[in-house]
Amino acid sequence: ANAIELKDISVTFHNSDQAIEAVKHVDLQIKRGDIYGIIGYSGAGKSTLVRVINLLQKPTGGKVIVNHQEIQQLKPVELRQARKKVSMIFQHFNLMKSRTVQGNVEYPLLGTKISKRERREKAQRLLKLVGLSEYAETYPSRLSGGQKQRVAIARALASDPEILISDEATSALDPKTTKSILTLLKQLNQDLGLTIVLITHEMQVIKTICHNVAVMDAGEIIERGSVAKVFTEP
Ligand code: ADP
Ligand code: ADP
Repeated sequence: ANAIELKDISVTFHNSDQAIEAVKHVDLQIKRGDIYGIIGYSGAGKSTLVRVINLLQKPTGGKVIVNHQEIQQLKPVELRQARKKVSMIFQHFNLMKSRTVQGNVEYPLLGTKISKRERREKAQRLLKLVGLSEYAETYPSRLSGGQKQRVAIARALASDPEILISDEATSALDPKTTKSILTLLKQLNQDLGLTIVLITHEMQVIKTICHNVAVMDAGEIIERGSVAKVFTEP
């Protein structure tokens, strides 16, 4: 079954005097449980496509089906629910300075019905999963880049997503830390069945963990398939 299905998706932005076609007639299917890479140079349209997948960008044309729901058909309240099933991690982590590690992981659960105690326990379980139990009461500024990204991953998992989108999440990390984060993502994919969409401009990242890949250029997918098919061996 597909976790994500995009049919003939286009996104056009209108600036003062010109139209920019950021995404042009893209068809994309990502299977549940896949680790799917999207690679391309800056300006290729990757971020715009990701915003379509995480339901923050309404496409100008085409059909979006995420977790078996046709998004255009959803009522606003259903759309908000659907968005919770797609989580993101970013290059610059986007943690809150004023909250502890625990507080950051609990944050997505604040507006929900779950009790304070359950929230606390869930955050602790997630921190254990990413190997940061001892840092619960630490503030993010005291952590290394790799540790910050682990906190961001724990926070992303708090809403029990079906899909995790990694947007250049290792781009600010050194090669060794990059490898440890990619290993963690692979483990989450295997243990939780999480579908991972990994956006990057680095071929090595794709080769390390992705099963399948799409190459984007100027708003289009110009090549796609298994990593072995698309890239030659080193
Ligand atoms: P990538 O993530 O691959 O770097 P983007 O999706 O950010 O690519 O950008 C694709 C194209 O769309 C670029 O030409 C960019 O300038 C343009 N673009 C992206 N977002 C907007 C926006 N909100 N308004 C106008 N143009 C945009
Ligand atoms: P409008 O076209 O009415 O100005 P908005 O772009 O502000 O709409 O989005 C409002 C509605 O668009 C939402 O309630 C939802 O139904 C729909 N919507 C938002 N994001 C998406 C998406 N990614 N795909 C399809 N529909 C969307």
